[in-house]
Amino acid sequence: MVVSAVELLKKEIPVEEESVCIADDVITGLVLVDIINGFCTVGAGNLAPREPNNQMMEMIDESVKLSRLFCEKKWPILAFLDTHQPGKLEHPYPSHCLAGSHESDLVPALQWLEKESNVTIRRKDCYDGYIGSIEADGSNVFADWLLVAGVCTDICVLDFVCSTLSARNRGFLPPLKDVVVYSRGCATFDFPASAARETKDGLTHPQEIMQHMGLYMAKGRGAKIAKDVSFGALK
Ligand SMILES: [Zn+2]
Repeated sequence: MVVSAVELLKKEIPVEEESVCIADDVITGLVLVDIINGFCTVGAGNLAPREPNNQMMEMIDESVKLSRLFCEKKWPILAFLDTHQPGKLEHPYPSHCLAGSHESDLVPALQWLEKESNVTIRRKDCYDGYIGSIEADGSNVFADWLLVAGVCTDICVLDFVCSTLSARNRGFLPPLKDVVVYSRGCATFDFPASAARETKDGLTHPQEIMQHMGLYMAKGRGAKIAKDVSFGALK
């Protein structure tokens, strides 16, 4: 039997996922990381999927479902939109998601969020949405409890989770308690070794392995990894 690298990795460094129930009486914030055309819509740009991708499609479906639930409850949603000024590259990636382009807009399935009163749209020009959310006066405000979904699990989602947890641990973000990463609401891109070899500065990025590593690293920083999310009274 041939054991794939992903199976081996999951055996060596398993990530235990849990069912998370969000209490109805604690306001929870949903953070959607970079669910934009440039990363998620087939053919939309240098970093967009080249063909339909199951992990990406599931991530979008789950994010839409969560967003609808949060909007019904009028709970806060923060959507990060990766947006760069022309000529300012983000090494080691090619030019992507330029300001004013279709690439830096929410995917069609989430565009309705722009009209919702509980939604804050935040454009950021760096990987880490926590850093991207710091105002000129140094303030940076989040909800009591955070649920994170989006792309890429091992890049912008992970950076945001790590910074938020470090800031929480230092007491910068009261009353924030838990940071939950919803695994099926997250996705990353696929750039196999064969393609990377043909690209200058190409960094190999096998999707299933990097998805697993992203969740593993987030858990290692203290995030809860949710395999499913429900709402209800706290037991
Ligand atoms: Zn970027």
